[in-house]
Amino acid sequence: MKKPKTFAPSLAGRCLRYMVMDLLGFGRMLSQDTLSAMRTGSSWHKTFQSRLVHETEVVGLELPIKNGELGISGRIDAVIQEKGQMVAVEYKTVNGDKFRQIEEYGPLFDHWAQLALYVNLGDYDRGRLIVDNRDSEERLSWDLLPDPKWSTWVITRIQLARKHQLQRTLPSREISLGCLHCDRWQRCFKTAEERAQMVQSHPQWEPNPSLPERFVTAHAKDSDSHCAEHSN
Ligand code: SF4
Repeated sequence: MKKPKTFAPSLAGRCLRYMVMDLLGFGRMLSQDTLSAMRTGSSWHKTFQSRLVHETEVVGLELPIKNGELGISGRIDAVIQEKGQMVAVEYKTVNGDKFRQIEEYGPLFDHWAQLALYVNLGDYDRGRLIVDNRDSEERLSWDLLPDPKWSTWVITRIQLARKHQLQRTLPSREISLGCLHCDRWQRCFKTAEERAQMVQSHPQWEPNPSLPERFVTAHAKDSDSHCAEHSN
């Protein structure tokens, strides 16, 4: 029998239904703009990693993170040693508009949740999220410490997703402003108009289980969820 698909850490902060669609192998609708941003991001990634090797004490690049019980499999961009601590580094690039939103509201929730998974399940001393602006080369960064509340939330979400994966059922929608940018939205709404209406009447993300209070999200004016927790 075919082995169930593994859970990619980048899914940790996504809508539960989206996670399950990924685990069940549903396709994504990627626009030309998204594909081009992905290509540029990938080249920035390589440059970032090669600079990191010269500027810091790098333990490893693309280090695997695995958890057999939860079926997680992924790679951490870099792990560095700093002041005797092991730091997991997650690198992201965004366009200028998104960068301004992040500057104002804090890191995107899914970026933060991915790093929280690395730090809490990978047993690192701390995590560092680095976000570069592809349009201006500005940079933002935040540090994150291990936190049992994050650990519990992330593990519970993955377990729920796995349960649906094994039963081959899709969970209910977790409608929010994020649906407007979701590349699997056609599996949730019949038309873009229906999506716009539903999102307008329910813009706030209410995941199951709900977020611990200190991770409550603040929504940017027009799009994705941001994490209220900036750094530790
Ligand atoms: S459209 Fe919304 S509810 Fe559907 S998978 Fe995407 S984020 Fe989740």
